Amino acid sequence: MIPYGKQQINQDDIDAVVEVLRSDFLTQGPKVPAFEQAIMDYTGAQYAVAVNSATSALHVAALALGVTAGDYVWTTPITFVASANCALYCGAKVDFVDVDATTGNMCPSALQAKLETAKAQGCLPKVVIPVHLCGHSCDMAAIAALASEYGFYVIEDASHGIGGIHQGNKLGSCRYSDISVFSFHPVKIITSAEGGVATTNNADLAAQMELYRSHGITKESHKMRRPDEGDWYYEQHALGFNYRMNEMQAALGLSQMKRLDYFVLKRNKLAELYRKKLNHLPFSWVDPLCDSQSARHLEIIRLDDISIRKQLFNEMRTVGIQVHVHYFPVHLQPYYLNKGFRAGQFPVAEDFYRRILSLPLHPELTAEQQATIVETLVTFF
Ligand SMILES: *Cc1c(COP(=O)(O)O)cnc(C)c1O
Repeated sequence: MIPYGKQQINQDDIDAVVEVLRSDFLTQGPKVPAFEQAIMDYTGAQYAVAVNSATSALHVAALALGVTAGDYVWTTPITFVASANCALYCGAKVDFVDVDATTGNMCPSALQAKLETAKAQGCLPKVVIPVHLCGHSCDMAAIAALASEYGFYVIEDASHGIGGIHQGNKLGSCRYSDISVFSFHPVKIITSAEGGVATTNNADLAAQMELYRSHGITKESHKMRRPDEGDWYYEQHALGFNYRMNEMQAALGLSQMKRLDYFVLKRNKLAELYRKKLNHLPFSWVDPLCDSQSARHLEIIRLDDISIRKQLFNEMRTVGIQVHVHYFPVHLQPYYLNKGFRAGQFPVAEDFYRRILSLPLHPELTAEQQATIVETLVTFF
């Protein structure tokens, strides 16, 4: 089976993890801060808070921004469910913004129209979570302009995006947002097995996210609200969680960071070759905006003819090519239908979903495997 996504692990990665296993700290040691520093250096963000998944990062990000019962959080239907679930964890309500038909990313004009309506009804969102599908940046300048006009916070779900550049800034720089989130799940650009990070340029938000990732507990004496009783003393200031990243995860992530630019380059080269070989076929590519370079997490094609998607999917799977579909619209998930969402509500997203297929794209994909994929597609059409 040729997987749609896969991690690359080399001897340096293995050595880094083994070194941790032989060290004094399996958790709460020096590797997590070192990984956070590497993320700050790479993205240019001033703060980075590492956690055990992007899902946790989205949760602590929403909590740090004060999302609570009665608030609205908006995201895109074309994403993994975690982008929406983080709002529900905080007791807030979720709503969705329709996407652009060509990029599958949150559409700024659909956002503006929805904001106008919400303003009239007095239910503007507290937070909007654009998702950089495939690692292709959303139109962040347009979203940031709306954020200042209508007064909402922005969390970038950049789970697909580490290594990408938008208008000269690395994704995760938070140039146009309050907080950005990366995932290090093995199918993403770099991996820490499980893991995620939230970046920000706001010291208070970073401190809040650090608090929520570890039980709401602080050990910093200048923050104590009662007299410090000694070296054993700590205080709980909020209801937090155990969302900590461990030292083995951080060591693996740190080791992978050294190959991040290579991974992105390799993915871009594979994407270029797909385009060169398949441009004559009856589908379109999901491409990055012209002011962006993508980390290329996914290679999504949009079929001209919706009716062949299932057959193409089955035929590719039958010959061992693990094509995929990213994503089934979140508002159509049974859990969200139970909350009152319905088919037809986000028509562009629903049409996008029906015509897409993700082709395998990862740094371990060989020239031979890619040639097989190309040949299978050419034969099919
Ligand atoms: C993978 C992913 C997540 C969740 O990441 P985890 O690290 O697995 O929690 C969230 N949002 C998007 C868009 C993703 O692709």
